[in-house]
Amino acid sequence: MAHRLSNESRRLRTLITGHVVPEPERCIQCGICSFNCPIGIDVRLHAWLGEDIEDPACLTCGECIEHCPRAVLRFEVTDLFVGAKG
Ligand code: SF4
Ligand code: SF4
Repeated sequence: MAHRLSNESRRLRTLITGHVVPEPERCIQCGICSFNCPIGIDVRLHAWLGEDIEDPACLTCGECIEHCPRAVLRFEVTDLFVGAKG
């Protein structure tokens, strides 16, 4: 049981620490990413400003990444291996 909980908490931490990262030079500001975000995050604006999406509400669902026609967005998991080592 404890082992299962540990795996679950690691999975959740991966979701929590991962975020979407834009490559603004490639963005054409089409807005398809924002249109496809199920919770209404203005992904286009983040791409324009070159800011990672660190909004805690982000579901890390990857819909914005999948629909971007210019491959501007990628999902970056941070601290995953730091957590795994500990
Ligand atoms: S879908 Fe891609 S190219 Fe279009 S606004 Fe979003 S990040 Fe930019
Ligand atoms: S990963 Fe999902 S919830 Fe997060 S910004 Fe992209 S579409 Fe929205």
